[in-house]
Amino acid sequence: MAVRQIRTLGEEVLRGTAKEVTEVTPRTKELIEDMFDTMYEANGVGLAAPQVGIRKRIVVVDVTGEDPVALINPVIIEADGEQTGYEGCLSVPGKTGVVTRANHVIVEAYDVNMKKFRIEGEELMARALQHEIDHLDGIMYVDKVEGELYNNEDLAEE
Ligand code: ZN
Repeated sequence: MAVRQIRTLGEEVLRGTAKEVTEVTPRTKELIEDMFDTMYEANGVGLAAPQVGIRKRIVVVDVTGEDPVALINPVIIEADGEQTGYEGCLSVPGKTGVVTRANHVIVEAYDVNMKKFRIEGEELMARALQHEIDHLDGIMYVDKVEGELYNNEDLAEE
């Protein structure tokens, strides 16, 4: 278990297309554990492998602090509704922007035993899933932001 360094906007690894995972090795499991450690340490609700410099299609999400889920090769198979709200990213520290996303998604993915499962999310969970899966294709929320990117400090003062 270890906290890994979070890569930040501007680093090339965040902009590539991550590779499909074909088998879960002990190293893959270690990576997933480290991703959870790194996400919790940074008070995030999601993290994608490219954010720790690994070009693999793996994301971890936990929007409540009590529902950790690791998704391997996740694919959004259904998306509907719309939500517009503030969003941030551990790879864009100190910033927040407004992004419109689907309000409800169903995602198909594999677990650490390479067993296929589906997970459904609404609101924050749906937002986190879409945001993290975007990372696997090199897409950052700043690409989708409506209007300006705010400094978190400025928002706190309002
Ligand atoms: Zn992010």
